[in-house]
Amino acid sequence: MAGQRSDLTFGANRAKRIEPLLDPTASDELDRQILEFSLRYDPQTGLLNHHAFQNALAAHLRSIQPGEEVALIWIDLLNLRKEFSLLGWTGAEALARRIAETLRSVVDDDALLGRFGARSFLVAMGAYKLGKYGRRRVQDVIDMLTPQRPRDEATEPEVATGVAFFPSDTASADDLVRFAGLAAARASYIKSRIVVAFHPRMNSLIVRDHLLEVEMRKGLDQGQFHMVYQPKVDLMTGQVLGAEALIRWNHPDLGAIPPSEFIPVAERSDLIHRIFEFGLRTTLEQAREWRDLGLALPLVAVNASAANLRADDSPRMVRSIMENIPIAPTQLELELTESLAFEDEELFTQRMRQLRAIGVRVAIDDFGTRYTGFNVLRHLPLNTMKIDQCFIRGIDRCPDMLALCETIVAMGRQLKLRMVAEGIEERGELEVMRKIGCEAGQGYLFQRPVPADEFTAFMREWPERMREFGFEYFPGLFETDPIYAVG
Ligand code: C2E
Ligand code: MG
Ligand code: MG
Repeated sequence: MAGQRSDLTFGANRAKRIEPLLDPTASDELDRQILEFSLRYDPQTGLLNHHAFQNALAAHLRSIQPGEEVALIWIDLLNLRKEFSLLGWTGAEALARRIAETLRSVVDDDALLGRFGARSFLVAMGAYKLGKYGRRRVQDVIDMLTPQRPRDEATEPEVATGVAFFPSDTASADDLVRFAGLAAARASYIKSRIVVAFHPRMNSLIVRDHLLEVEMRKGLDQGQFHMVYQPKVDLMTGQVLGAEALIRWNHPDLGAIPPSEFIPVAERSDLIHRIFEFGLRTTLEQAREWRDLGLALPLVAVNASAANLRADDSPRMVRSIMENIPIAPTQLELELTESLAFEDEELFTQRMRQLRAIGVRVAIDDFGTRYTGFNVLRHLPLNTMKIDQCFIRGIDRCPDMLALCETIVAMGRQLKLRMVAEGIEERGELEVMRKIGCEAGQGYLFQRPVPADEFTAFMREWPERMREFGFEYFPGLFETDPIYAVG
């Protein structure tokens, strides 16, 4: 890199050595040098610290010749925390030092190297005439950092890397750093081993994610969330078997934000645990209220994300909420998607067992969207299987889908699971599911998810309305007081 070179090299690949001053009277000079060092450098690696890096980069970009390009690479060290828990701070720092050394050895002398916080490493280097060659060079640097060879005893760094280019992505030093950081965040999110280049869309997407996260935190404190409930109906008798609770968020300025948008953001932070706790507490309190009103509702179901189950204390949390809201544990069903079973079967099975030990029922949600083999299913302590709506939609007009659903229902029956058809919208779909022996169903056809008071009204009107769907009304079906538990 041209220009400001003395300053850059001073702070870049080789931090200036502090010369031991033999003359003890020169200790003031030593103090001054140490102070100067600590103000500019990360003490563990000798790389420029955040502040010094930003200044040096801005100075360099100001001096750049027309036609020159600079690549700003942002490397996040992903396994730092793991190293820290395994080997303590010394081990984690040793890993960070190894990265710094490798970077020093692979980049040109005039590249600028920095460390931001504990886990982020930055490199600013000339990207030559850019085009493919420049981008290839960036990938080469990262490949040297994380050799693709079998892991040996020593820990290999696991990194997520993003890159932004000056001046094609931005002419601002601050934005260049920010954009490379966004690209690295994207690389970490999609678990990419390849360097991810910044794209303007990332800016708006990540800004939106961040906004949602901040707003969600506020919204949870300010009561912007509530639960809505949708009935699950016994397809043979018409009895309401239970209610599935679904979360809703009404933001004062952004309006109604659907769960499909905010749940994935919550899953990437601790917010998913607050959402689970909120959903569980609200739904159980509501179930108690319905019980006090004498409504026959055998069970309520709450959705739990894989991120909730991964947390070690999730069964304990469920138990402690249930202790404070006295409701028969068998009255609660947790709906879990297949994704965790897919990622970590052992953990999934263990959590299910822990939940079943409390007495809670467990359902597998959206069955069929991530295929869990029969052999896995056979060993899971499940109560219920919910067949995803994509198998139900238009089933009365599609013989292939019908055959598939028949097989799924037969398999479920063999496993002694309660089978629930999700998203029944049409009368034809209901008739087919009933005919093939699917025990229960839910969907807009019967009732959309509604707030608690509307659900209470639905329950009161249902004995009359159910005849519309060909259900016979048997007195006694709805007279269950106190609520009974379904085995
Ligand atoms: P899910 O658990 O599979 O819930 C079923 C979704 O289908 C709900 O969407 C429901 O409103 C919708 N639905 C019900 N009947 C019909 C129908 O007949 N037709 C159509 N087209 N849709 C129907 P919603 O409420 O938007 O939730 C979407 C997903 O978000 C849920 O899928 C669940 O995975 C997640 N979710 C919702 N609430 C929570 C929550 O409290 N916690 C967690 N972790 N996830 C939740
Ligand atoms: Mg569900
Ligand atoms: Mg579902």
